[in-house]
Amino acid sequence: AKATGKGDYAWFQFAMEEKADHQRILREELTVALEKHQLSIDYQPIVCTRSGRIICCEALLRWRHPTRGLISPVEFIPIAESSGLIESIGQWVLHTACREAADWPSDIGLAVNLSPRQFTGFGLAADVTRALDQSHLAPNRLELEITESIFLTDSQENVRILNQLKQLGIRIALDDFGTGYSSLAYLSCFSFDKLKIDRSFIKGMTTSPENLAIVRAVIGLGKSFGATVTAEGVETEAELACITREGCDQVQGYLLGKPMAPEILREILIAPVRT
Ligand code: C2E
Ligand code: CA
Ligand code: CA
Ligand code: CA
Repeated sequence: AKATGKGDYAWFQFAMEEKADHQRILREELTVALEKHQLSIDYQPIVCTRSGRIICCEALLRWRHPTRGLISPVEFIPIAESSGLIESIGQWVLHTACREAADWPSDIGLAVNLSPRQFTGFGLAADVTRALDQSHLAPNRLELEITESIFLTDSQENVRILNQLKQLGIRIALDDFGTGYSSLAYLSCFSFDKLKIDRSFIKGMTTSPENLAIVRAVIGLGKSFGATVTAEGVETEAELACITREGCDQVQGYLLGKPMAPEILREILIAPVRT
């Protein structure tokens, strides 16, 4: 809403200060969230459209605040990024997820989200190596998800880091594909193992010809690069049927399984008949 009078402006300023206060308090609380064991990881299955089997699971960070309850990563990841906390939190996620995934059947992969802020120097590859060594997780089971925003700054340096990561034998996925307002030029600088089509395109796919055209184009693009394509946020049978018909390799979404605690996921993964 537009501020029309002095009172409105004062209210606006008050709201902004409230927000800044809230952010500052959350930042302070996030600083101790790790040591107070308030952070945990849920895992969401990613399923093969052909076999219907779980191929890998994506690690999604959760913050259980003692009084505020569950806080969404959409809210606290940006705070972690702007405060520099993302480095230690990101490290914790990587090490914890690798350790938990090492307990799964060996044909199930693990996907971990990386913030652009974790691309600082060459410490990242060393850290990934350490996480793999300490957990005894085979490198080919690990997939790191990045967004195209890492190509907006230090593009050449980041491509070098990506290549270094790939040399470890892990895979690199491009997350939220098509939502980042950048050109497609970066696709010729690095060869991704996987493209993940953002939920915003999947959502309208069955009703909007434009969305369907975009989904089709992304699948074609992925195939021509030899990359696997995953559809995010599949919620309905109609979306699943449509995306399968279009030749998408993998699907993820509430229809196939919500993010879940590791104990629950493990029960599903080790069930005698896995579908
Ligand atoms: P993302 O990487 O795009 O993860 C997918 C998000 O979509 C997750 O939200 C997941 O719960 C949600 N989702 C999955 N299927 C469906 C569906 O069918 N419908 C709907 N409406 N949503 C679905 P979540 O867990 O809230 O995470 C939000 C974002 O926070 C992630 O988006 C990612 O950008 C960030 N994030 C989460 N964990 C981490 C982490 O460990 N590190 C970093 N850097 N970012 C993280
Ligand atoms: Ca992701
Ligand atoms: Ca995504
Ligand atoms: Ca997303």
